Amino acid sequence: MRRSRAFLPTTKEVPSDATLPSHQFLVRGGFINQQGVGLYNFLPLGKIVLEKIRTIVKEELDNAGCNEVQLSFVTPISLWDKSGRSETMGKEMLRIQDRHQNSFVLSPTNEEAMVELVKNRVTSYKDLPVNLYQINTKFRDEARPRYGLLRGREFLMKDGYSFHASTEDMVREFDMMEETYKKIFTRLGLDFRVVQADSGAIGGDGSKEFHVLANSGEDTLVVCESCDYGANIETIFDEEQVDAYNEKSYEELLELNIDRKCSCGATLIFKKGIEVGHIFQLGTRYSAALEANFSDENGKPKPFEMATFGIGVSRLVASVIEQNHDENGCIWTKETAPYTVNIMVSNIKDEAQMTLGEELYLKLLGEDVEVMFDDRKERFGFKMKDAELIGFPYTVIIGKELVNGLVQVYDRKTKEKISVNTGDIYSKIMELI
Ligand code: ATP
Ligand code: MG
Repeated sequence: MRRSRAFLPTTKEVPSDATLPSHQFLVRGGFINQQGVGLYNFLPLGKIVLEKIRTIVKEELDNAGCNEVQLSFVTPISLWDKSGRSETMGKEMLRIQDRHQNSFVLSPTNEEAMVELVKNRVTSYKDLPVNLYQINTKFRDEARPRYGLLRGREFLMKDGYSFHASTEDMVREFDMMEETYKKIFTRLGLDFRVVQADSGAIGGDGSKEFHVLANSGEDTLVVCESCDYGANIETIFDEEQVDAYNEKSYEELLELNIDRKCSCGATLIFKKGIEVGHIFQLGTRYSAALEANFSDENGKPKPFEMATFGIGVSRLVASVIEQNHDENGCIWTKETAPYTVNIMVSNIKDEAQMTLGEELYLKLLGEDVEVMFDDRKERFGFKMKDAELIGFPYTVIIGKELVNGLVQVYDRKTKEKISVNTGDIYSKIMELI
């Protein structure tokens, strides 16, 4: 992309409600903009990042044998009456009426609709297991929408639902999905923990959350310093205590000791996390309520054993930045960067600089490198600040040193600048990326 043609409205202005770095930098870097409370538009750069994350999620799920579908975002209220959730969802579920006064909801999640989809289509134990997922819009009228993409009202979620003939098979799928989620978050370059979560009536390991570790995280976790044990404090304390801990900053939590040791003998410590994924053993809660049965080996009707699997896809965009930034802006991970290389011509009136920039740009494009060519008529310092804010992993600076046959390669993460002979620049970039 030529920067002179890009719709990439960066700004110095910090939105008044933006307290977190991810919120500030995503707006300032021209990735997103706010449309209303808890409502965000994705601009070209933000859209590229969102699609990259979506693609990784999809690839890993498809590899794991999951089937992608796309359900209607608007669902009839009658579906929610059947499960009793039209009552229990409360105000988070936004209800609307059509011209005939029929009631609908903007889907906050899709258990009921997925059960309805499978009901009478999967009829025998021979057709099981089945794992269906979608990556689409959700709406929750959150009591406190905040932190930009981290807690929006409209957001992009991957929600998956699996159907089984037995509890054992459901637990097998649950464990397999835990591994699949680990692959997804590892590929995204995130530092994350899997923790035990509140599973209500199910108990045991029936519910696990995946948290990106970040000091600004809304959730408080207890994790082992040595082994991979971790738990959301919701599983250990009552609601009042949980609220009290969640109010504390990460620094305040560091001062506190945890009385109990991990079962491995090592020390337990507090961490703050952003919940980016949640997997849950549902049992027959929804299949029984919606009378969704299959016939078992003896021809007897039984409700499906179910599990559910969620990922906050748009929340992940912000989580990457919450974990990877500095005072100047975003530092994208390899798999999430909107463009890998930024070619910056310091003075576009200098013919030699422009010619080299153009040549390198076309050559990298030819190799399918995701490359931005900053060909704007702006001051060097201005363009450099912009590149810092956006967070391109590498910027090739074609400037004054060109007369000596040299260009610079700047690494956003390490802030190192190395000089490279113009003849070697192409192979240097291919080696770096
Ligand atoms: P939270 O405790 O953060 O409200 P939740 O328990 O309500 O999350 P789930 O119903 O399990 O979330 O939804 C699956 C995933 O969707 C979550 O793990 C999270 O990553 C994402 N998610 C939930 N609510 C929001 C929101 N308001 N904005 C963005 N992402 C969200
Ligand atoms: Mg919630």
